[in-house]
Amino acid sequence: MSKYFHDLWSAIFSSMVGMGITLKHMFLIRKGNVTLQYPEEKWPRPERKIGYDLKDYNVIRSRLHHNIDDCTGCNKCARACPVGCIKVETMKVPKGTDLGTTSNDTIKRLLVTRFDIDMTECMYCNLCTYPCPEECIFMTGGPNSSKHPLDYEYSEYDRRNLVFNFAKVTQEEIDKYTIPPPEEQQKDEVESS
Ligand code: SF4
Ligand code: SF4
Repeated sequence: MSKYFHDLWSAIFSSMVGMGITLKHMFLIRKGNVTLQYPEEKWPRPERKIGYDLKDYNVIRSRLHHNIDDCTGCNKCARACPVGCIKVETMKVPKGTDLGTTSNDTIKRLLVTRFDIDMTECMYCNLCTYPCPEECIFMTGGPNSSKHPLDYEYSEYDRRNLVFNFAKVTQEEIDKYTIPPPEEQQKDEVESS
């Protein structure tokens, strides 16, 4: 019988302590003492020193970024990715087409029609960045700050927004550069002669 009353008192006492804490927070509420409505509201990003040196930021969990203008579509990054979350598609262009050059003066010979990174599958291992001959895929921040500022926020309401589509090719460009089949080429030559 005494155990029964002991347990009863314990339950009442615990409830009173809990309610006391709730009431205390209710009446002593202060600015900044509540849950932040992230991602609409954000704490300021620390300027320096959050446990790593700034030079290491490119190899920790910052955002993976890609500069499509420098991409040759060589596919080396996608082949290096252990989880296969980089998808690169290219198309050949007619002989003599000038697609420009990269920042390293490499002549671009393929049109990159798709360059997707699915960040829901990425494990931030950074392995894709090393084989890139144009250094156009990289983790943001740190040594890459001049290319892209540090960015590590991924909050999205729709997970499909975490598949980053970097290719900018339009359907008009694809149509323009599509190489016609040989028989059509012959027909065009006959008509023009
Ligand atoms: S960081 Fe790793 S998992 Fe993510 S895309 Fe690059 S290679 Fe793949
Ligand atoms: S390795 Fe670099 S150049 Fe090659 S497809 Fe990937 S991002 Fe583009």
